[in-house]
Amino acid sequence: MVFTTRFAPSPTGRLHLGHAFSALTAERAAREAGGRFLLRIEDIDPTRCKPEFEAGILEDLEWLGLSWETPVRRQSDHLGDYAAVLDRMQSDGLIYRCFLTRTEVAERIGQAPHGALEAYVGAPLPPDEEAQRLEAGDAFAWRLSLAAAQVRLGRQWDCMTFTEEGSGPDGETGALAVDPARGGDVVLARKDAQVAYHLACVHDDAAQGVTHVIRGQDLFEAVHVQRLLQALLNLPEPVYRHHRLITDETGRRLAKRDKDQTLKALRDSGVTPTEIRERLGL
Ligand code: GLU
Repeated sequence: MVFTTRFAPSPTGRLHLGHAFSALTAERAAREAGGRFLLRIEDIDPTRCKPEFEAGILEDLEWLGLSWETPVRRQSDHLGDYAAVLDRMQSDGLIYRCFLTRTEVAERIGQAPHGALEAYVGAPLPPDEEAQRLEAGDAFAWRLSLAAAQVRLGRQWDCMTFTEEGSGPDGETGALAVDPARGGDVVLARKDAQVAYHLACVHDDAAQGVTHVIRGQDLFEAVHVQRLLQALLNLPEPVYRHHRLITDETGRRLAKRDKDQTLKALRDSGVTPTEIRERLGL
């Protein structure tokens, strides 16, 4: 199997130094392994993703001196593929419609509405109530049923693992146990988007033959849900390499709101790609 990795940005803003580190780290790993480096545009959120940000991503990565295989996979071109997976999961009884709003979910799990809502575990509505809500045209999300997933996986549920060749935020590395319930009944398709991140991500990693998922430690926790989905969908298991996050002088993680740290702003102020690499310790 050819070593294959990817950089998978969402075009919701300009890339910053943290993205540059991720892309350069993945590309270097592919080069050192004589493998493939892919770019994937994760533009499934129709309200936040913009074509000009996608153009900006390509411009910034080219400026950094990176090259990748073409054609670039753009997730919005594959919505039918994700819908087919959801259809299959629906016939297998693995997902259910959830009509709750964010605030209602937050109330049910006793959390502030702005916190992470991931760990919610619910149940489908009784059929007549669900029929009424559908009739009324009420919006719903598709959630994974952990209960159904556990039945489906049987003994596998308790013994799933993943290989971490990098490290998690607390230094986790090596053969690690998957906690399949970690994400709760995770949303796989949102009210306003036809597919949510975890499902599109595992689908595409498999479709693109990704053997090594190289990305920031902010996504370390995502492995639990993603390994569960891989098991349920019979997808191959990639190796994970989570890397450190790039922070500013105060130790705070860079985010899209840090406008002065975007690659475009740095380039416009005369910083060179070599200086970027040096600054990132590469
Ligand atoms: N699109 C995700 C992000 O920009 C990255 C997904 C991944 O690498 O798995 O945070």
